[in-house]
Amino acid sequence: MTSHRIALIPGDGIGQEVVPAALTVLEAVGNRHGVSFTYDEFDWSCRRYLDEGAMMPADGLDQIRGHDAIFLGAVGAPGVPDHVSLWGLLIPIRRQFRQYVNLRPIRVFDGLESPVRRAVAGEVDLVVVRENVEGEYSEIGGRMNRGFPEELAVQEAVFTRAGVTRLVDYGFSLAARRRGYLTSATKSNGIVHTLPFWDELVAERAAEHPEVRWDQEHIDALCAKLVLDPGRFDVIVGSNLFGDILSDLAAAVAGGIGIAPAANLNPERDFPSMFEPVHGSAPDIAGRGIANPIGAIWTAAMMLDHLGHREAALEVESAIAGVLARTSVRTSDLGGTASTTDFTKTLLEFL
Ligand code: ATP
Ligand code: MG
Repeated sequence: MTSHRIALIPGDGIGQEVVPAALTVLEAVGNRHGVSFTYDEFDWSCRRYLDEGAMMPADGLDQIRGHDAIFLGAVGAPGVPDHVSLWGLLIPIRRQFRQYVNLRPIRVFDGLESPVRRAVAGEVDLVVVRENVEGEYSEIGGRMNRGFPEELAVQEAVFTRAGVTRLVDYGFSLAARRRGYLTSATKSNGIVHTLPFWDELVAERAAEHPEVRWDQEHIDALCAKLVLDPGRFDVIVGSNLFGDILSDLAAAVAGGIGIAPAANLNPERDFPSMFEPVHGSAPDIAGRGIANPIGAIWTAAMMLDHLGHREAALEVESAIAGVLARTSVRTSDLGGTASTTDFTKTLLEFL
C-alpha cells in the first residue's frame, strides 16, 4: 500500500461540493491500485478572509510545504476582489513552491456537444502549458498623477532566460510523449522586447528536441485557429497571460469550464504541486448540489498521475469518457438534470 499525504483546501462555493466528489473517486480507484490518501484539511478561503482578514495564516506555506500534493477546490466570493484570492493564496503558493508549469488538458469527449461545429469528439485532445510564475503577472509598475488628465499606469512583464527555458523544455518533453507537435504562442510583431526573446528561447530549446515538430503563432491568429480547427493542436506553450486566455478559450471549445482540469506543477518536485480545476467558486450555483464535478475529478486524475499512478489516472479518465459516451447523466451546465452526487455515483459504477 502506497500512502500519500495531501493538503486539502476545498475553499469557497462549489469548491466545497466538487472536492468531496473527487475524493470518493480517489478512494475507489485507490482501493483497486493499493494507493491510499490521508488528508489534512485547511479552511483557507475568502470566507476566512472575511472573518479573519487573511486567506491563510502567516505561516500557511510552512504548514503545507511537506505534503505530497495540494488539492484545491476553488477560491472566490462575492464582495471579495479577485486580487485578494489570487495574491493572498494562489500566487504565493505557485511562486514559493516553484510551480512554474500550469498544465491544462482539453478534450472534446464523445457525447458532449461543443459549441464549435468543427470540434469533433475524439479529435480534439490538446494541452495548454502555461508559464505560471512570471511574465505579465508581475507586481512591477505603478500609477502616477491619479485623477489628473496626465494620469498613467505602467506595468512591466518579466521574462527570464531560466524561467522561459524551463517552461518550454517541459512543453517539448510533454509533446515528445504525446503526438510530437508543439505550438508556441507569441506576439513578437507587436511586443518587441519580451516576445522576440521568448521566440529565441523556444527556437533554442527546439534544437534540443529534434523529435518534436513545432511552429509558432501570434496569439490573435492562434485564438482564431483554436476555434476554426482545434483538432490540429497537441501541446501549446504560452506565457502567463497568453496561457491563461488560451486555456479558457480551449475549455469553452470543449464544452465548458465545468469539465476543465488544471495542475500547477513543480517538475523538480522539491515542493508540492497543486491541483485545482479551472473553474472558480461559482457563487451563482453554490450550495445547490448541482456543480459539475468532472473538472475536479479529472484534476484528481492528474494528481494520481503526478504521484506515480498512471494506470489509476487513466482509469479515472476513461470512466469520465465512459459516462459521457454511454449515458445521458449530465449536470445542468451540460444540459442535464443530474446532481453532483448523481453524476459521481454513475462515474463510480463505470470505475
Ligand atoms: P470566482 O470568483 O471564484 O472566479 P466566477 O463566478 O468568477 O467565480 P466561475 O466560478 O468559474 O467564475 O464561474 C463562471 C460560470 O461558470 C458561472 O456561471 C458558474 O456557475 C459556471 N460554472 C463554473 N464551474 C462550474 C461547474 N463545476 N459546474 C457548473 N457550472 C459551473
Ligand atoms: Mg472569476
